Amino acid sequence: MSNTKSISYSIQPASPEAHIFRVEMRVPKPSLKGQVFTLPAWIPGSYMIRDFAKNIVTLSAACGDDPLPVGKLDKQTWQCAPCEGELVISYEVYAWDLSVRSAHLDITHGYFNGTSVFLRPVGLEGLGCQVEIKCPEGPAYEQWRVATSLQRSGAKPHGFGVYRADNYEDLIDHPVEMGTYNLLDFKAAGVKHEVAITGRHCVDGERLCRDLEAICSYQAGLFAESLPIDRYLFQVMVTGDGYGGLEHCYSTSLICKRDDLPQPGMEKITDDYRQFLGLCSHEYFHLWNVKRIRPQRFLEADLSHEVHTGLLWAFEGITSYYDDLSLVRSGCVDVESYLELLAQNITRVLRGSGRLKQSVTESSFDTWTKFYKQDENAPNAIVSYYGKGAMIALALDLTIRLGTDGEKSLDDLMRALWQRYGKTGKGVPEEGIEQLAEEISGLHLQGFFNMALRGTQDPPLEPLLQSVGVGYALRPATGSEDKGGLRKVNGNAEPLRPVLGARINGAGGQPRLAAVFDGGAAQQAGLSAGDLIVAVDGIQATAKNLEKLVAAIPAETEVPVHAFRRDELMQFILRPLPPPEDTCELWLLDASDKKQQANHRRWLHLSN
Ligand code: ZN
Repeated sequence: MSNTKSISYSIQPASPEAHIFRVEMRVPKPSLKGQVFTLPAWIPGSYMIRDFAKNIVTLSAACGDDPLPVGKLDKQTWQCAPCEGELVISYEVYAWDLSVRSAHLDITHGYFNGTSVFLRPVGLEGLGCQVEIKCPEGPAYEQWRVATSLQRSGAKPHGFGVYRADNYEDLIDHPVEMGTYNLLDFKAAGVKHEVAITGRHCVDGERLCRDLEAICSYQAGLFAESLPIDRYLFQVMVTGDGYGGLEHCYSTSLICKRDDLPQPGMEKITDDYRQFLGLCSHEYFHLWNVKRIRPQRFLEADLSHEVHTGLLWAFEGITSYYDDLSLVRSGCVDVESYLELLAQNITRVLRGSGRLKQSVTESSFDTWTKFYKQDENAPNAIVSYYGKGAMIALALDLTIRLGTDGEKSLDDLMRALWQRYGKTGKGVPEEGIEQLAEEISGLHLQGFFNMALRGTQDPPLEPLLQSVGVGYALRPATGSEDKGGLRKVNGNAEPLRPVLGARINGAGGQPRLAAVFDGGAAQQAGLSAGDLIVAVDGIQATAKNLEKLVAAIPAETEVPVHAFRRDELMQFILRPLPPPEDTCELWLLDASDKKQQANHRRWLHLSN
């Protein structure tokens, strides 16, 4: 039953075969001028205009039992004629996007974010909401159940039925999964955490829960208080090759590939599982950093259009720094494994010359049109506020440790951000993080921030890492598979080999240039992104042999390269160049420097 103080929704997977949710919104006391209602253009955490309203297929309004005229004000906003009784809006939503950002429905499962399915009654968004989640009709769906962090309001645990939310903002922060998922649970910091895994998979649930518990407990302890939540849900969608996650206050939605999950009997940690734990760790850290410690600009966001902040380097970059750091501090990976991840992240950043043109503050601000809309020129034009942001977080952490003789660190800054902004619900002003960093450390950090955040220089990682007992060096890549990592003991130095200076897309076996790097050999020869390479020096090129063909060209030699641009065969003269020194390797310095060793252990939380 609807009451007069809350908005009631019901959502029914009306036609799983046609991917249609049928939704009803009941507004007990609509505006007498004609109620306006709208659907968000974007979802918090994913900074791109997605125009979710385009998936509304039909929509109609009624006042009590009488049909009511309704008109459209813009791409996502409607207004109906004045209505003195209860207003009922009925609509159908097409749900066929298998991502963590929107909605998906078929005969195997249903998933939705509130931003895709729940209209916002303008002016009434502060009212509480009731949501009845209905099961699809038919015997095929009798085993389905519900996994969501929405508060239950009559529904049984994991049951269909009525749930509630405090207001519209709360309503759209609890994605809902329905189907026959695999359910695991564990306790961390005294709070029940659930893991609902959908899609064909095989998992060592005990191991997964043990590792997640270690990560969640570590992060809860980092903020030095009890968890600000009474429940948490990891919603995992398993596919053949997916990857992604989106953070919420009480849950996270993740997509991973089948191989990412730990298999029964698997003892070691695979690269894929390590990456999956890193993703879980990342989204869980957001429970504080961005969901509760929030940029002031986001507090005012009504999701109808872009909201700009220069702070994503902190909300995504610091989170990216802590995601892998949490793995080593919680004991899920060893120090060597962590240094490998760190070196790979640094390498990814150094391989884009766009970092020399765009600062992380600019990257944050322009994420809507640049980071989220990357084209073939992205490596030359932009920097990732995730990767470079994580590099800056590392540099900031080590700078504070060095400057305060180990008394303070980035951990103290995170705790201070939580105390000042997260707990109080106040938004973080654009200059808030820099000010607080100086305040908690007592250091003058403006020079650092100007360089790191508003400049395009690389942070001085070599001396900073040395202060915590880690060696840092750059070298040329040994091949396209070389992502950087730990320095190999007795590793033979590979001879310098010429490279093309381009990223290759080998789908279909034919090498197509996906991106051409500024100043590289391909660009100098006039080759462009999209070109299909046919032959190098008269030898047929394939996705498999192209790198070798180029590497075999003697230094200072020019060779013809044939390529299709569109449907035209063209000849280019290529003079390959030596590979740039853009590959980071890290190693543990010898243990003789006691101070370095003490810093090292304190940084990574190692006990002896
Ligand atoms: Zn994130």
